[in-house]
Parts: sequence; C-alpha cells; structure tokens
Amino acid sequence: MTTLADPVPGGRPGDVERATALAGELEGRGVHGVVLAYVDTAGVCRVKTVPTAKLASAAAWGVGMSPVFDTFLADDSIVSTDVLGSPDGDLRLYPDLDRLTVLAAQPGWAWAPVDRITQEGERHPGCTRTLLRHLVADAERRHGLTFRAAIEVEWTMGRGPEAAGEFVPAVPGPAYGAARQVGSSDCGADLLAALAAQGVEVEQFHPEYAAGQFEVSVGALDPVAAADRSVLVRQTIRAVAQRHGLVVSFSPAVLARGVGNGGHLHLSAWRAGRNLHGGGEGRYGMTADAESFAAGILARLPALLAVTAPSPASYLRLKPSQWAGVFTAWGREAREAALRVVTGTRGLTDRAANLEVKPVDLAANPYLALAAVIASGVDGIVDGAVLPGEITGDPAGLPPGEVPGVRRLPVSLAEAVAEFRAQERLRAALGPVLADAVIAVREGESAAVAGLDDERIAAAYRWTY
Ligand code: GLU
Ligand code: MG
Repeated sequence: MTTLADPVPGGRPGDVERATALAGELEGRGVHGVVLAYVDTAGVCRVKTVPTAKLASAAAWGVGMSPVFDTFLADDSIVSTDVLGSPDGDLRLYPDLDRLTVLAAQPGWAWAPVDRITQEGERHPGCTRTLLRHLVADAERRHGLTFRAAIEVEWTMGRGPEAAGEFVPAVPGPAYGAARQVGSSDCGADLLAALAAQGVEVEQFHPEYAAGQFEVSVGALDPVAAADRSVLVRQTIRAVAQRHGLVVSFSPAVLARGVGNGGHLHLSAWRAGRNLHGGGEGRYGMTADAESFAAGILARLPALLAVTAPSPASYLRLKPSQWAGVFTAWGREAREAALRVVTGTRGLTDRAANLEVKPVDLAANPYLALAAVIASGVDGIVDGAVLPGEITGDPAGLPPGEVPGVRRLPVSLAEAVAEFRAQERLRAALGPVLADAVIAVREGESAAVAGLDDERIAAAYRWTY
C-alpha cells in the first residue's frame, strides 16, 4: 500500500532512521546513487539523483528542483500559466522510501518516486503524485471506495542509435509471432529477470501487433503504486534494451500510420473488500455502482483525452479499427470501444473483473491520468450515472448516429483541450493550478507542431517518450 501521509520538513516520523538503515543496506549491495523520479505535465519523466550517502538527508529535507518543469513541453521548451513557468522558486523532492527499488538493469543505482512539496512544507498543487494520493484518500473517506489499477505498457523496440532519427525494428517477425520472440530472446529474458528482481509482478509479455512492438502487462495495485510501477517498468525496459544495443520508444505513434503504442488503464472500484465489477445484479455482473462508475468515465472521455492522450502524436494512434478505442462506447471484451468491460473467466471474476480504458497512451502522466479517470468514475457513482447500451463489433462501420450516444472521440489535441476547458468538474478535480498547466502545455504542444504533416509529427516525438 502507498503511504498516504504527505512529506514534512525534517522527515515523517521514522523516515530518517529508515533512510539511514536503507542507505547502509544499499551501499552493501554496491548501490552508489538513488534516482529520484517524477513525471511532468507533458508526460516526460524527470529525475534528479543523490549519492546513496545522501538518502537520509533527502528523506529529511528533500532535494531541490525548480517548479518550472510543470510547464515544460516534451521538447524541453517552456510555456507558462498565471502561477507556473517562472524561472524563480524551488520545490523539495521527497523520495517514497516504501517504493525504493534497486535497479536490476542499472548496476550501482536504486530508484524512488518522489512527492514534491514547497520550501514552506506545503503541498505543491502541481504535484500529480500528491494529487492522486489525496484523491484516493478522499474517495475512501467520503465514499468508502478503494481502487485497484494497472497500466499496460506497449513499446516499440528499434535498432540504435536513435539519434539517426529513423526507426528500424529491432527484430523481424509477425504480430504475436514466435519469430519475434526468438529474435528478442536474450533481451526478453533479461527484462523478465530484472522486473522479477525489482518485485514487479508481470502477468504477460508478448510481441504486439506493429513492427518491433512488445507489451508487458503487470498485476494490479493501489492507484499510486500502479502509477509508480508504470514509471519503473519503463525505466527498466529502456535500461535492459540499452544493454542489448536497442532503443525503445513508448511514443503513441512511432510511425505516422498503423497501430500505435497504447497504455491501457485497467481499473476496478472496491467497497469493504468487495470488487464492485463482479457478482452484482447489473450487466455482466457489474454492481449498480460499477455501472455508474463506468458511465461517469464514459461521459467524460472527450475531455479526459486532454490528460490521457496528451501529445500531438496521440492523435496519430487514435484511429478507428486499430484497437485504440476511439468511440464513446463500452462493451464486454469489445476492443474497438473506448471502455472494455473485462469480466475475467468463471471462477476468477470476483478478483479479476475490471474496466479497461483504452484511449490512454504512455505520453500521459500516469498519476494525472489515474486521478482524472478515477475522479470521473467517482462522480458517476455520486450522481448515479446511467450506463447506456453496450456495443459489439467496430463502430467505425456504423453510420453516424446509428447507436445513440456513440460518438467519435476528439481527433486532435486542440479538440480534446476544448472539451477539457468546458468540463468544469474535471478541472476542479485536478485543481486550478494543474488544470491550467494541462491547458497551457497541450496548447504549447499543438503550437509546436503547427503546420507539420503526420510523418513529421511522429518523427518529432519518436524518441521523446
Ligand atoms: N496497440 C493498441 C493500442 O494502441 C492496443 C492493442 C491491444 O489491445 O492490446 O491501443
Ligand atoms: Mg496490447
């Protein structure tokens, strides 16, 4: 479970002693430095590192870093809002010691996600991990709800060096093909070993549809832990691939055309230890609350895209008939609907039933994406939102308006931002500082690619995420 208490200057009770003991242990294991990681509004993971000997000091006082990264774009240029984007000010990065992990594919290094607080010891309104921690705690306190989540990781592996800009698939072979598994055998085995050594429970690992594409799915955890895990898994994939001379892209669209990389989000709501998505009286065993949870998310999807599909490259991926889920619809095991109701097989439904949100990619900040999606689902429960009829098959084949309520999701980042602007409750759930940062950063990204054709957009973000 994730520690729900905010960091405090001087350290939470016991933190400094714990960090001192951990540092001794790490030094004994040949770890020289600790990577302190967070994800910015644009979806880029930013880091600072400290020598292992400074871990206790970091646990007590944090590590300084400018708040300006909250309005960085993916290309490292900077935009601003009323309160963010200034070169002034400083924040303190506090490692979550519960998540400290020795990096199996980066000898000499450990890793920990951070919360960011102000120098005055207050919550930083731009910290997405803090937002998600608070949102989850509030849902439990107010509504007795807890959540389990997992983020699928799809990536494309190419032959280096990426500096050349082009993409050359690391291995040949068809979708889900044995040839591709054999071709990546050593790298794949090292990846599984590294993830296991880091305590990441892998469910499956397979060659995906597109050239050079792979996927790892992992076990569900509480939402903050799931977001942390998503960041750690990507760090690990990159490091393992590099040891094999390969380069990795999590970009939603490595190429302008064809199937892209998704980051589907699996989510279930629970009350008093019971999974609300199974064993109920509703459709496919959903309880009334699970149906309302899904309905709340479904209704918000066009606006949610500004958070879950935050890059101009996201809209190269979000095309019909590519399993990315670009219609506001749901269905059981429906791979072209934005929401896929997963029931699990008989005997497992109590534990396994969940909701898969498909128009999510790995340019998204996972903390922000989970916060926005969970807030929408909880609003659905509070409002008693009604889930419309399901769909089967591919809505792309239907004449517009054929199934009431089913519409195409925004086709550009600008359209998604317009929906987000109009969605006051969602903006309020993120808080004005983060909501404004989302708008400013997305508008900055759109402006950065204005006039570029699809090929150039794909190239611009190919090796960024
Ligand atoms: N690659 C697809 C996407 O962009 C998903 C394929 C799958 O369903 O696993 O979302
Ligand atoms: Mg997949």
